[in-house]
Amino acid sequence: MSRAESGNPWIDIFRELQEEELEEGYGETWALHFNYSLTNDLPQEKRKQGWKVTERPSNGSFTCSSCHHLWNSARICIVFHYRRRENAQRGQVLMRPFRQQCRQCNSGKYEHPKFNEDRIEEILMGVIVKIKKNCYGVVDPDESPPKSPSDQRWTKPHHKELCEACQQGICTKA
Ligand SMILES: [Zn+2]
Ligand SMILES: [Zn+2]
Repeated sequence: MSRAESGNPWIDIFRELQEEELEEGYGETWALHFNYSLTNDLPQEKRKQGWKVTERPSNGSFTCSSCHHLWNSARICIVFHYRRRENAQRGQVLMRPFRQQCRQCNSGKYEHPKFNEDRIEEILMGVIVKIKKNCYGVVDPDESPPKSPSDQRWTKPHHKELCEACQQGICTKA
């Protein structure tokens, strides 16, 4: 498979997955972009345009850009908006990973989460299953979206005051 690297694993992995899962099956090309103003709330206006929303909580890690403290979080909120544009024979996915602040140095800066490639693939497959179901009417009991990870290694409490998604009232369901 040709892999034109974008430099961003989310975009690269999504491109590969959508080729196999969406483009081949439905002849429509989907693209993923980041948008840091998304919330889990979809205004009526957007719904009318065909946008749908899904949340994929995950675990991942952060590195503080000030003190280099590294921490894992079992509860990183990622919001996706997606829509099929039937007339244009393509689809769009927008994503926003929510950030967290370092509690070691109180820098007050939100840091971006990092995920390993297996996790990214798992999260994106969950989104693609949603797209197939909600945009193409695919009902396949064998292909239910992967459950959000319940990894027992991370038992630290979640610091709401340092979590961007908690601050916006989005994280509570994770
Ligand atoms: Zn720090
Ligand atoms: Zn939170």
